[in-house]
Amino acid sequence: MHADLEKLIQLQHAESELRQVETELAEVPRHKEESDKRLKEERSRLDGAKEGLAACQKTRRQLESELQDLETKRSKYKGQLMDVKTNKEYTAMLHEIESVEREVRGREDLILVEMEKAETLAAEVKREEAAFKSVEESFRSESKTLDEKAAVLQRKAAALGADRDAVAATVSPEALELFHRIAKKRGSAVAEVKDSTCQLCHLKLRLQMFVELRHNEAIIQCPSCSRILYYEPTPTLVVP
Ligand SMILES: [Zn+2]
Repeated sequence: MHADLEKLIQLQHAESELRQVETELAEVPRHKEESDKRLKEERSRLDGAKEGLAACQKTRRQLESELQDLETKRSKYKGQLMDVKTNKEYTAMLHEIESVEREVRGREDLILVEMEKAETLAAEVKREEAAFKSVEESFRSESKTLDEKAAVLQRKAAALGADRDAVAATVSPEALELFHRIAKKRGSAVAEVKDSTCQLCHLKLRLQMFVELRHNEAIIQCPSCSRILYYEPTPTLVVP
């Protein structure tokens, strides 16, 4: 086989493998983002539940303070009831007391509603806390796995890069220049020929070119995609 052709095939294998590893490596940050997003969503659900409970507790405290004020008012009116001089004033004061008592009952009812609501909300907070904890745990283990995967891929990429450079150093400058020129345009620079067809652009080669190619003794480019072609004889096939 043509010396450069053999090296170029090796070079293409190394490049392709390196590119695959680099693609896998590039996926890692995306996976991390997804995992991070899930954790953030779960945290915001937990925060939402906590806020709901806090708001409910605040409303209850407000109602309790209003209730206290109303009770103070009622005691004050009851005290004043002893000091009124006329029947008319007495009746008016009784009305005032009744009205305050209605308000007291109203506040008490509302406090009960808020107490029941708080129970439901507290249960929800507890549920969300458990859900968050479990998502956080899987986030931690996923992050660890992804970091480990990235480290392995980085080492692999470095080794493949070194292999590729070592092969590239043995190729003649012209052949290397041709390789890079085609690779830049096509992604890959070398293509196998099978059934007299370029395996990357699927052009069927003319007989004369195929016959020449089968010797693998020259740098032959595909007439369609211009990739450097090589022929891998099928082991079971007897090549004349
Ligand atoms: Zn081709």
